Amino acid sequence: MAAGERSWEEIRKDFPVLDQEVNGRKLIYFDNAATSQKPLSVIEAMTHYYEHDNANVHRGLHELSNRATAGYEGARARLAAYLGAQDEEIIFTRGTTESINLVARAWGEEYLKAGDVVLLTEMEHHSNIVPWQLLAQRRGVKLRFIPVTPEGTLDLSNLDQLLDGVKLFSFVHISNSLGTINPAAELVRRAKAAGATVLVDAAQSAGHLPLDVKELGCDFLALSGHKMCGPTGIGLLYGRREILDAMPPFHGGGEMISTVTFEGSQYKPSPYRFEAGTPAIAEAIGLAAAAEYIDGIGRARIWEHDQLLAREGLAVLSQIPGIRILGPLDQRAGLVAFTLQSAHAHDVVSMADQEGLALRGGHHCTQPLLRKLGVPASSRASFAFYNTIEEIQRMGEILKKVQTFFA
Ligand code: PLP
Repeated sequence: MAAGERSWEEIRKDFPVLDQEVNGRKLIYFDNAATSQKPLSVIEAMTHYYEHDNANVHRGLHELSNRATAGYEGARARLAAYLGAQDEEIIFTRGTTESINLVARAWGEEYLKAGDVVLLTEMEHHSNIVPWQLLAQRRGVKLRFIPVTPEGTLDLSNLDQLLDGVKLFSFVHISNSLGTINPAAELVRRAKAAGATVLVDAAQSAGHLPLDVKELGCDFLALSGHKMCGPTGIGLLYGRREILDAMPPFHGGGEMISTVTFEGSQYKPSPYRFEAGTPAIAEAIGLAAAAEYIDGIGRARIWEHDQLLAREGLAVLSQIPGIRILGPLDQRAGLVAFTLQSAHAHDVVSMADQEGLALRGGHHCTQPLLRKLGVPASSRASFAFYNTIEEIQRMGEILKKVQTFFA
């Protein structure tokens, strides 16, 4: 710990929800890949907004509306700074899923035609598969997938052939099922060199490691606020300005237009063109507080700690008889999915819950990937910087008990 830095124990105290018992045991929250917990500063920023400033944004001329607008637009600027983008390049959405749907609808329908190829990977979350399948049904585009190796990494041996003729390449930065960290910068560089537009799904990386969209060079990047200590119901799409300026709207309605007549409408420039209706104002303010909070700790420091938790998680889980760990055994993010020979994932998660341990069981919204790996369902422990080594060791004891019970 460097001088002046708060300790991880102190940081943990910022999360009131962690200080409780579940089923008579101290809560261990290892379901962070599904959603992270929220620090007091995020909760307070949202409460403050509702207690003092609540009004609709943009069109009011009164004090409260001005304050709400300042809060909302300030949040946009804070998130732009978080990603190294310009303010106009940040579109608030409901989360990663909506961001990807926005690109598939607004960009995909404008620029893709029958026979064009969209390249994905076999480790995508359903939210980066289904929108493209829907587009394929509407427009006749073809989907192509980069294969995943049995070790759980992307097989890039034929990347040049796979990129040939690709119009859009959309890939996950960190896999929520495998913990694989994809080489995002290299993938973007090679895809851009092949002439593709590139979207990065940063749902699992945005709250964990330093991310700069200009350094990365991607055209679009999607994230969810609730996975980075922010509230649910808010996320964003980063889009390169030239691309957004040339893109038609997604949803139609108030806020996104400059003029409307019965014959037709003129749209505002980005980002407003893509934000129809009253936005999630308190949530945007909460998300900005989350970005501020995370940067207050430091993303490089968080990532280093994640790696420590990941190594400990792997070491502890490897000790359990009959366990199969999914994904790479080194170079991985702080989440580990596994199966136990003796017990179904749902039994593992239910019994762990009786001990106060929150895991997730199922297909983690990656059914095609798990099918390919021959795994019907898995249990997943996913860590955040407020988790501790002691909690991971306790998980080991609990899972040994589960394993013995079902053996
Ligand atoms: N992409 C990845 C890699 C995810 O892990 C998730 C959520 O688990 C999503 C996309 C979808 O995020 P959301 O449900 O917040 O839209």
